[in-house]
Amino acid sequence: MKYHFASDNTSGVCPEAWQAMATANAGYQPSYGADALTREACEGFRRFFETDCEVFFVFNGTAANSLSLASLCQSYNSVICSDVSHVETDECGAPEFFSNGSKLLLAKSSLGKLDPADVERLITHRTDLHYPRPRALSLSQSTELGTTYRREEITPLCQVAKKHGLHVHMDGARFFNALAALGTTPADITWKAGVDVLCCGGTKLGMAVTEAVVFFNRDLARDFEYRCKQAGQLCSKMRFISAQWLQILEVDTWRQHAAHGNRMARQLADGLNELPGVDILYPVDANAVFARLPESVKAALKERGWMFYSFIGGGSRLMCSWATTVADVQDFLRDASQAAAQ
Ligand SMILES: *Cc1c(COP(=O)(O)O)cnc(C)c1O
Repeated sequence: MKYHFASDNTSGVCPEAWQAMATANAGYQPSYGADALTREACEGFRRFFETDCEVFFVFNGTAANSLSLASLCQSYNSVICSDVSHVETDECGAPEFFSNGSKLLLAKSSLGKLDPADVERLITHRTDLHYPRPRALSLSQSTELGTTYRREEITPLCQVAKKHGLHVHMDGARFFNALAALGTTPADITWKAGVDVLCCGGTKLGMAVTEAVVFFNRDLARDFEYRCKQAGQLCSKMRFISAQWLQILEVDTWRQHAAHGNRMARQLADGLNELPGVDILYPVDANAVFARLPESVKAALKERGWMFYSFIGGGSRLMCSWATTVADVQDFLRDASQAAAQ
């Protein structure tokens, strides 16, 4: 089977992250994040975002999202998110579980993005005590449909949230892809636009088992380390995670890998677009391509071993990553084109 485009987490660990772990693998160091590399990595995040943020490392995105949302909400609160958001569709109820019951309220999305008017409608249409009170707004950057929010789209969403006393959470499992695509500063599309906490994705970028939870609003980070520990998300050999982050942030490694994934997605979309009967469903802003493929083409591709999902977003989803090569894209396009010609 060929898993090249099935997800951006089917790739391996990028050489820079791997090397950083090898370098960190010498001698003895304090455990549970008390080591120098972890201190430096947290400083690295503060330089990267140009603000005095609080940073925590966890193993995966489900933990990052659900633990950070839990820290924004009481059990009787609710979280507004898009109907296609990962927190709603792919986390097995973890946000509800870790918050002891905060309900997710689904807002309509267009191209994976929330609309401030619809968010406001959801916040205000019930204010009685029989309804779970909205306390957090969650948006994904890039979105589950491969689009990105520009700063001008983030700000009004955050303004609506703030107006009604909600905190803003950003699911950034693919934050770096969005950042590379938008060409802004990290600060611009996060805290400067009103984001309170960012789940900053490492794994899909090419790192091994890590996501960072970045609190721009430090008050919300209170006791977060206890949540991490209780949830089994406190890494005892933290230095192996921290060393990777230092390399990824400090040497601009993130930009090279994220931009590469985005470029490969663009090439794949352009090639698919040429084929008869194939439609590209959403703007290819980042590293995802959603295509409507004729059933015969889909079947022929699967026959040739290509694995990809067709249940997300109404089309076939093809993801690119740091590891995708031009040859991979060409192989897929050649098989798709032969199938489309039949
Ligand atoms: C992959 C992904 C996550 C994290 O998923 P884990 O498998 O828990 O690491 C979170 N949000 C989005 C939008 C994702 O695509």
